Amino acid sequence: MIYLDNNATTKPAPEVFDAMRAALDASFGNPSSANSLGIEARKMVDEARLSVAGLIGAASASEIVFTSCGTESDNWAILGALEATGKNHVITTTVEHDAIRKLCQKLGKQGVRISWVEVDEEGSLDLDALRSELCDDTAIVSTMLANNETGILFPINEIGEIVKAGSNALFHVDGVNAVGKIPVDLKKSSVDLLSLSAHKFHGPKGIGVLYVRDGVEIAPMFTGGSQERGLRPGTEAVHQIAGIGAAAEFVRDLTPMQTVEALRDRLETEILQNIPNAYVTGTADPAKRLPNTSNICFENTNGEMILHRLNELEIYVSTGSACNAHGHTASAVLQAMNVPYSRTMGAIRFSLGRFNQVSDVERVVEVLPTIVDELRSISNP
Ligand code: PLP
Repeated sequence: MIYLDNNATTKPAPEVFDAMRAALDASFGNPSSANSLGIEARKMVDEARLSVAGLIGAASASEIVFTSCGTESDNWAILGALEATGKNHVITTTVEHDAIRKLCQKLGKQGVRISWVEVDEEGSLDLDALRSELCDDTAIVSTMLANNETGILFPINEIGEIVKAGSNALFHVDGVNAVGKIPVDLKKSSVDLLSLSAHKFHGPKGIGVLYVRDGVEIAPMFTGGSQERGLRPGTEAVHQIAGIGAAAEFVRDLTPMQTVEALRDRLETEILQNIPNAYVTGTADPAKRLPNTSNICFENTNGEMILHRLNELEIYVSTGSACNAHGHTASAVLQAMNVPYSRTMGAIRFSLGRFNQVSDVERVVEVLPTIVDELRSISNP
């Protein structure tokens, strides 16, 4: 099996299993209980909080609030900011993950004013447009750090400076597909809120974090007990939290990402050399993308069919299109980047990870040209 779908999810690290098993077994107490088992569970939660804080350069572990996933963190950031500030304007971008995009579309229908900042064909954000949208009524600006489909990075330090110079708005960053792949140091940034999700960096599914900078006020997600400083009540999922803590330690050293990057670069270069009419989506500069991601459009082919042919060979990738009842629709992200339809429908996302080998890349480069060639000759006989 060759797994090249690490932006969708990652294989949990062995250390993560060990930490989770311990939390479900000997340390199964409730962290709110004053007995020894509860104290043991509380210790696990505290240690995990420190590990996550270390991974993203938070100034204090108290800034880490555990949630159930990246989607919850994203939703909470926006909804919590609107409620706490009483303002009615949100600025976001046209290439966000559905967790932000669909929420903002829904809020727009409910009367919240949403400004959608566009990107160019390279995937770069129009920072002047963002600056001009800021106003006294802006509750929050939300942009991603790394795009999950293309891997394109947004300059969050520069964006943060623009937000803070032009408004009192909070600045939220969706870091779900970036954390664990590139350095993130929040102490040195103007980021107020940052979402992350364990299953994107070798942790378990069902556990995320919203980083809430000390002093930043947002309304709680739920109403209940005093867990997570009352911001996200509910008995802590200690085993999940132990899992995210172990995953944070596992990816803390980013040195292995250099190997991942070299593999990605080789895969991309050889695909472009060996397959005609194949195009990298967005910027060709690999340094402006996540080190593991390559979104390639094979013009005049069908990405779903490429995916299935690779799948038969136990090579797992993703497409840039979504299935619906009427067929396939092009990815909203690629549409927002004005990628022509003839290319978007043939988009494949290769997302590598720490467990990939050179032989994985060699195998893909060996089989892919024939697959694309055959599919093109079927659809354009
Ligand atoms: N934001 C981004 C950029 C993502 O890539 C994802 C997941 O693909 C999410 C948010 C949602 O995260 P989760 O799957 O933990 O809900």
